[in-house]
Amino acid sequence: MGFKAFRVEKTDSGFKYSVQERDVAELPDGDVLIDVQFSSLNYKDALSATGNPGVTRKFPHTPGIDAAGIVLESRSPEFRAGQAVLVMGYDLGMNTPGGYGQRIRVPATWVVAMPSGLTPETSMHWGTAGFTAALAVEKLLHQGMTPAGGPVVVTGASGGVGCVAVKLLSTLGFQVTAVTGKAEQHTWLKSLGATEFMSRGQALEGADRPLGKERFGGAIDTVGGVPLANIVKSLKHSASVAVCGLAASAEFPITVLPFILRHVNVLGVDSVELPINHKRALWNRMGGEWRVDLSATVQKLALKDLEAAVPRILQGGMVGRGVVDLSL
Ligand code: NDP
Repeated sequence: MGFKAFRVEKTDSGFKYSVQERDVAELPDGDVLIDVQFSSLNYKDALSATGNPGVTRKFPHTPGIDAAGIVLESRSPEFRAGQAVLVMGYDLGMNTPGGYGQRIRVPATWVVAMPSGLTPETSMHWGTAGFTAALAVEKLLHQGMTPAGGPVVVTGASGGVGCVAVKLLSTLGFQVTAVTGKAEQHTWLKSLGATEFMSRGQALEGADRPLGKERFGGAIDTVGGVPLANIVKSLKHSASVAVCGLAASAEFPITVLPFILRHVNVLGVDSVELPINHKRALWNRMGGEWRVDLSATVQKLALKDLEAAVPRILQGGMVGRGVVDLSL
């Protein structure tokens, strides 16, 4: 059975991209064979497509850490042919052929039954980036964050995790301060629910001071480095930051003072290796009480568009969510 896939090949002169015809017989063994209808573009997909060794070591390779579609064959009693499902994280798109191919074969323990409020397409409006935003919000709420506690700051606000975080937080009644390097996106971010803005430059101010003014009742950080450290220094007493990403830096340059004087918390977020039962429960929440219309964040991409989209997301130039329609 043939299918189309976006393939990455490593050559002496760098990485080469093409859409190729593949065969199901080449896929790894697994419990569930899926007809992938939609995938999405995440920062990590671009890392995979450019040979980041922490993500992908084996080439040629089909990236795509997200996939949503219909079960074609299943040897697991949990899933049946014709059922809508999604897969995100674990090894999908890292060293296992991923969602940029029209077929994947994976262990049943990676598969999430499509929540009743979502379709393969709308689930990929969220994708890993949106799931990560939801996971961060869930953890902050668990830690006691409330709208009365003050505004929540979101860094990398125009990116995939950031824009979904802005939309979800505002829908849940929070005031949202968006940190973005793209002033031209303020109107769009306002339409998603941002009420206040900081530039990337403002997020770097005060790096030499151990503490800042108490401003935020919570935070979702996607960039790391000095902006993250400054946010921790600006959290109100007992507030928390959910740390998701490293788009700026993997460093965390800070003293212990905010922790011992203001009782603030740094919460880790990892959507990749999260246990499957937690993934399934949170996806059901995203398709239920947290269902939000993310269509205003979506740019639709075909497999052939990924070659140009990979450098754009690596350079921080992506806006919103790139959703890959594998029928295009
Ligand atoms: P995007 O590229 O879509 O968004 C990142 C945003 O960060 C950019 O749009 C830009 O927003 C901002 N940014 C980029 N470079 C810089 C810089 N040098 N300094 C300051 N801001 C910058 O990526 P994603 O939203 O998909 O992912 C964001 C991060 O989260 C990545 O590091 C990714 O690896 C991580 N991640 C982690 C997950 C987890 O499980 N922990 C899961 C998913 C993602 P703007 O222009 O608005 O400032």
